[in-house]
Amino acid sequence: MTDSAPIGVIAATERGRTAAARLAAAWPGRVRTFTEDRAGEALRAAFAECGAVVAFLAVGAAVRALAPVLGDKHTDPPVVCVDEALQHAVAVLGGHHGGNDLASGVAGVLGCQPVVTTASDAASTAALDSYGADLGFAVADPAPLASAGAALLSGRPVRVESDQAWPLPPLPPNASPQTPPESAAAVLRVTDRTAPPCAETVPAVTYRPPSLVVGVGSARGAAAEEVGALIDASLDEAGLAPASVRALATVDVKADEEGILRAARDRGWPVRVFAAADLAGVEVPNPSEAVRAEVGTPSVAEAAALRAAADDGAGADLVAAKRKSANATAAVARLRPRGRLALVGLGPGARDLAAPRALAELHRASVVVGLDQYLDQVRDLLRPGTRVLASGLGQEEERARTAVGEARAGAAVALIGSGDAGVYAMASPALDFAGADIDVVGVPGITAAVAAAHRLGAPLGHDHAYISLSDLHTPWEAIERRVRAAAEGDFTVCFYNPRSRRRDWQLPEALDILARHRPPQTPVGHVRNAARDDERAVVTTLQAMREGGAEDVDMYTVVLVGSSASRTVAGRFVTPRGYTWRSAADETVP
Ligand code: SAH
Repeated sequence: MTDSAPIGVIAATERGRTAAARLAAAWPGRVRTFTEDRAGEALRAAFAECGAVVAFLAVGAAVRALAPVLGDKHTDPPVVCVDEALQHAVAVLGGHHGGNDLASGVAGVLGCQPVVTTASDAASTAALDSYGADLGFAVADPAPLASAGAALLSGRPVRVESDQAWPLPPLPPNASPQTPPESAAAVLRVTDRTAPPCAETVPAVTYRPPSLVVGVGSARGAAAEEVGALIDASLDEAGLAPASVRALATVDVKADEEGILRAARDRGWPVRVFAAADLAGVEVPNPSEAVRAEVGTPSVAEAAALRAAADDGAGADLVAAKRKSANATAAVARLRPRGRLALVGLGPGARDLAAPRALAELHRASVVVGLDQYLDQVRDLLRPGTRVLASGLGQEEERARTAVGEARAGAAVALIGSGDAGVYAMASPALDFAGADIDVVGVPGITAAVAAAHRLGAPLGHDHAYISLSDLHTPWEAIERRVRAAAEGDFTVCFYNPRSRRRDWQLPEALDILARHRPPQTPVGHVRNAARDDERAVVTTLQAMREGGAEDVDMYTVVLVGSSASRTVAGRFVTPRGYTWRSAADETVP
């Protein structure tokens, strides 16, 4: 619930009012409660005035009350109904426009079941009316959506056409660029070009991607009508769709040029301005020395269009060269879409310890890259049509290159791993290869030490250090130096990659170093397969570990060694927050 539009809540009964109060407490400042006796009128008022509606009413009663005022699903607020027994939160209206998410949100607060009936969610595929919406796609004409959606869901062959590769979520396997036009039951087309390819005999949905930037220059005082007409003519002549224009760009001295601003406003486009010196560095086909003398850059329209498009994309191409009217110039550039790389940590194992955002990224990706054992854990979560690229242990570099390469080719990629993707994992090798030409998003995951800590007690209550004992990529001298420093610094130490069949002397040696700085009874905890089915947690002492306890440790284990302040309390490993517990309200955040 991050959106800030008010949520109207209708409660006609005592129970409904109590539940409404719980929603209001959960979403402070966002809930407007409508408690009129006449629930129908209250519902219509909320529907007219709020960004979303939750009604503690029967679905039938809500449908009857709203029927006369229903408009368009793109503009109507989503409506969720909750039954009197508080068992179900039903997404009744606007499922793909916030209703399904609202039902989940309400269910989360009230502890009831969300009920989602939109077909594409039931079949776990992307909904056609919101396909690409997070990238800014607009549906050119909603008429063919229903029949194309039906063809897609019933498994009939659907042809996918796209001018460029956009980082889109997967479509089911029956939707493919390989479907020949003659056997397609429907067409999904992503294009900023207006020309229809030929007479369409099957339902064809056209998506307008936000791929174009119009660059504009004008003389002081040029009328909005003239500027607008020039822009429209430029787009029209090049066969480009105005719905694909993401912005109008110009030089900073025109930032207050009313004709330009109004032409953009009339068309619903934001305006971006660039310094003349910045534009002077953009290579253009039609520079002008007269323009340079006047504004300090040899090109305004072409350079601004290219500059803005390159900024938002992985590069840009001029698709309509400079065109002039008496007082204005216009040009159009197309950006090359940036692919998307999500670095996703799945947590230690148990699915309910993976962040909902991590699972959402698995749905969002059309390509998922990872170690085969992690991919097996999440295969059931992947949408039909997702391409899975599995690799074995030890192929980290190849895995990182594959993920970055797929993103660079324009795909939405999730590179997955256990725990956190940035902790002894794939995020750093991937970012070593990734350029500015792809978007990168990271989803934090619960790392092994943190998961293990909760099985052991509270060992991380004060300063601690993570040290990997794997000397495959780090010389032992460096590892040893860090263990010594952690020992001297009196840190609690978390050892990752502690011991394998061929690497069995490093852990005993590290424990010896720590033992020189802390007492034999120092608590040590180790957890094997934390948060997995065969989890095993042991709390023991430094002395016992040195006398053979290390034998129980393998590569599925993380080992935590206490500081000199750590204690065992009722069998639990506890590191106190300080040697003396002082009240320091201005320093301590509990
Ligand atoms: N990115 C992972 C760490 C990968 S390094 C994370 O953030 O957790 C691999 C090492 O992590 C293993 O050798 C082991 O020491 C530790 N590890 C990972 N998952 C574990 C788990 N579920 N239980 C115990 N140790 C684990």
